[in-house]
Amino acid sequence: MQSLTNRSKIVSNKTMTWSERIYLPAILAGLKITLVHFFKKKVTLQYPEQTKDHGPYFRGRHVLKRDDQGRENCTACGLCALSCPAEAITMIAAERKPGEEHLFREEKYAIEYEINMLRCIFCGFCEEACPKDAIYLTEMIPTADYTRKKFVYTKDMLLEGIEPKDRIDISKRRKGIREGAM
Ligand code: SF4
Ligand code: SF4
Repeated sequence: MQSLTNRSKIVSNKTMTWSERIYLPAILAGLKITLVHFFKKKVTLQYPEQTKDHGPYFRGRHVLKRDDQGRENCTACGLCALSCPAEAITMIAAERKPGEEHLFREEKYAIEYEINMLRCIFCGFCEEACPKDAIYLTEMIPTADYTRKKFVYTKDMLLEGIEPKDRIDISKRRKGIREGAM
């Protein structure tokens, strides 16, 4: 019968030799391939300790900016969340109280702001949509982790100038907001 692709192979039924039966040639051939690759230049990187060099237009994890007086730029207008095609951004708005002018630039601010990095496709639409120059995508890559929860970046993780040790337990803060609102 004529083959359509010429890729069919005739299976050999010849009796295996002694060395073939103990798989020695196959094992040695495999070890040879391993040895050859062992001394070649590695193409893999030890992420997250090592990262690749990126082009100048690379879009990585976000940062929430402050103005030159250290006040938060974000006014919780929600335009970034609206423009996000992945629905990765959520926020809770709050009103600035008297005496908080040194903390927040506008009368309204985001008391909570979250980005789900597992949803984000790093398109940069949020940065484009923001009228307050509050959100930017940086060259940083979201760090590797083992649980989904760790990829929901809270405001304390996004806002510039907050050290990890100073981050507030967000579940407690949210509880406070809801109790305060009731
Ligand atoms: S980069 Fe794109 S997908 Fe990610 S949060 Fe911003 S708008 Fe959404
Ligand atoms: S980051 Fe910008 S667009 Fe998003 S809520 Fe804040 S001010 Fe509005």
